[in-house]
Amino acid sequence: MIDVAVLGAGLGGLTAARDLAGAGADVVVLEARERAGGRVEGVVLPDVGTVQAGGEVIGPAHEAYLELVQELGLAIERSYVSDPGEMTWGLADGVYVGDDLPWMSDAERADLARVHREFAKLAATVDPEDPWSHPDARLLDETSLGAWLRAQGALPAALRRHDLSSLSLSCDAPDRTSLLGELRKHAAVGGEGFYDLDRWEGLRVGEGSAAVALRIASGLGPRLRLGAVVRRIAIQPQGVRVTLESGETVSAEAVICALPAGPLREVEIRGLSEARLRSLRAQRHALAAKVVVAYGSAFWQERGQSGLAETEWLFGSTWPQNGSVLSLLVPPERLAAFLAAPAGVRSEVILDGLSALYGELARTPVAMLERAWGVDPFTQGYVTSWAPGDVTRVGRLHGTHEPPFYVAGSDHWVAGYMEGAVRTGRGAARAALGAASPA
Ligand SMILES: Cc1cc2nc3c(=O)[nH]c(=O)nc-3n(C[C@H](O)[C@H](O)[C@H](O)COP(=O)(O)OP(=O)(O)OC[C@H]3O[C@@H](n4cnc5c(N)ncnc54)[C@H](O)[C@@H]3O)c2cc1C
Repeated sequence: MIDVAVLGAGLGGLTAARDLAGAGADVVVLEARERAGGRVEGVVLPDVGTVQAGGEVIGPAHEAYLELVQELGLAIERSYVSDPGEMTWGLADGVYVGDDLPWMSDAERADLARVHREFAKLAATVDPEDPWSHPDARLLDETSLGAWLRAQGALPAALRRHDLSSLSLSCDAPDRTSLLGELRKHAAVGGEGFYDLDRWEGLRVGEGSAAVALRIASGLGPRLRLGAVVRRIAIQPQGVRVTLESGETVSAEAVICALPAGPLREVEIRGLSEARLRSLRAQRHALAAKVVVAYGSAFWQERGQSGLAETEWLFGSTWPQNGSVLSLLVPPERLAAFLAAPAGVRSEVILDGLSALYGELARTPVAMLERAWGVDPFTQGYVTSWAPGDVTRVGRLHGTHEPPFYVAGSDHWVAGYMEGAVRTGRGAARAALGAASPA
């Protein structure tokens, strides 16, 4: 019998397996796909090179991730946030360029700043490790971000700015987002305003984020098994038995489950407490798609534009992933329209939007790539979403273990993200090793 079976070779599972193997444990990673990395993926586009189809950027507060990157000998550099030029806004009624919300009046900007100060004040009362201990936890959780903004008397333009922010981050809309969930995220990472770009997205891995996963995977060698779809987990007194789609069973002393919330709901789990199963099954993701559009040059910079845009159109944002390659996110609110359109129409609408933002040169990319993560069977999402009531519904068991069943992966941190995957992967490995050591 092996010591630990790790389920899923995303950053969460890979990090856990790396730490376990480093400590001398006998470990196997069971991964459904024919590649490692999960929601981080490097794809080679002809005439372009490797582009990132999944997670890309991190921030200085993402300490576990930064430490791992350093251990792997990869480079950290500034992200698009430091690119020259100003931000672009694609609104239903026109395109604006300017970092300082040029479509808002001074009074509206002042109102937004007032609301953000109130938000930061409230966030300071939330313990990100234990939001449930807040005296008004249930009320804050059942209140949506949208309802709270309206209760603050936020002006219509401030509400619109928040709608745009959700579209651009591909989160669920403010009315479908728990206020407590948002306060918890802010309390964990801090910074200016509602979502401090520099703190969340100011850095990237020089070699591309997929290199992190690939480097760990290559270190794991034959301990990583691809094409191994987990269908059943049975926790028994003598250990854990994992059954694969092929019918093969793998027995281990312990299991680290690093599967995203959606695919995990399709795995039959026996031997866990009812409360934990309920908590795991209560998690959900915002569903999104990503589009990568590669050009011959960063021509937007000649127009004084940074390549960062927020829009109210089919895609909610654009940003330069590296040089002349733009990344776009299609938010949950637009995903149905995106999926319903024939492929040719989708790319036409996207190029129309890009040319409205950046001019006619945007109509002739070198290559385009679409990745509909929201309907990918082994992701069924994008990042964890906390709908009103969800922080309470998932409850205090969030991110905790029930030995010999341990959890890892970005769903088990406050905000999804690569930091969450690495942080919880390391935590799960530590917990499993701690339980295995003699007292
Ligand atoms: C388009 C996009 C953009 C993003 N942008 C950013 C960003 O800029 N910055 C950031 O920090 N984060 C970003 N994220 C989020 C970040 O990529 C993820 O939170 C993180 O990579 C998740 O890692 P994980 O290990 O928790 O899960 P995953 O990477 O989803 O790994 C889970 C693994 O489990 C496997 N699996 C699923 N079902 C089974 C099964 N039944 N049996 C066996 N294996 C199974 C999957 O194939 C996968 O490899 C983005 C995500 C997406 C999709």
